[in-house]
Amino acid sequence: MVPPVETPVGKLGLSICYDLRFPELSIWNRKKGAQILSFPSAFTVNTGLAHWETLLRTRAIENQCYVVAAAQTGKHNEKRVSYGHAMVVDPWGAVVAQCSERVDMCFCEIDLGYVEEVRTLQPVYSHRRSDLYNVNVNEVDKEELDFNFATFPIDSKTIFYRSAHSFAFVNLKPVLDGHVLISPKRVVEKLTDLTDEETSDLFITAKKVQVMLEKVQNVHSSTVCVQDGEDSGRTVPHVHVHVLARRPSDFGGNTDDLYKNLADHDKNDKIKPRTPEEMAAEAKKYREAMRL
Ligand code: AMP
Repeated sequence: MVPPVETPVGKLGLSICYDLRFPELSIWNRKKGAQILSFPSAFTVNTGLAHWETLLRTRAIENQCYVVAAAQTGKHNEKRVSYGHAMVVDPWGAVVAQCSERVDMCFCEIDLGYVEEVRTLQPVYSHRRSDLYNVNVNEVDKEELDFNFATFPIDSKTIFYRSAHSFAFVNLKPVLDGHVLISPKRVVEKLTDLTDEETSDLFITAKKVQVMLEKVQNVHSSTVCVQDGEDSGRTVPHVHVHVLARRPSDFGGNTDDLYKNLADHDKNDKIKPRTPEEMAAEAKKYREAMRL
């Protein structure tokens, strides 16, 4: 996912052709500050006649952005003819410039004041009911930042995955081989303190981590859980999802003993904290596996 880029004419959301059919991408670009959406395209004559203008105008209207869509045109070979009709649509949905089917150029003014005017007139983005519906975007965050786990600084070397709102890291005192944690980047105590976007991002990240962990640890089962609130056995007051690789031999075959162990493993000296080097080595293995 490439966030919108600054240009001399405004903030530009980058998409192409077939992306036009997936409104989520444009919504994400608008949420990231796009004032203009671009769709350089090569529609066929069939799909162009039926859908091109309708889709461009729809993306412009629902996102209150200019839509700039360059388009290949003409016959490329015996099997392929492109529709052309490159066009610019304004944030109210009007086609303000359009090329013919010939090789052509068209021009228009981009008026960012008009973008603001339309958004003020119909503030649809502040009327979205994110409590009822939402767009999930699973952004991968590549910045090598440290985060805090409650008040403990978590070294980026022990973090193996970052999404828009969450980070996954290895455990200081794992209960079992393959016991990792996923937390929201924002330090909040309880699951119910998270926004809807943070909640979906946290659990989508937890599932991705689970898939990776089961593969690396060569197991078929996991425990995925949250101890939410101090009476539940939680010790660190920052939301975290535990993901543990599970084997039939865990706790001498008494697999349910996990819950007792989870509640008190970090409260006493039963398990020794691992060294930063051990943790970094485990995180490196997972980081590489997350990329596959
Ligand atoms: P809970 O009992 O649910 O609060 O779990 C807290 C978890 O965080 C335990 O599994 C601890 O081993 C782990 N933990 C505590 N401090 C750190 C830390 N600095 N880095 C990584 N894991 C930690």
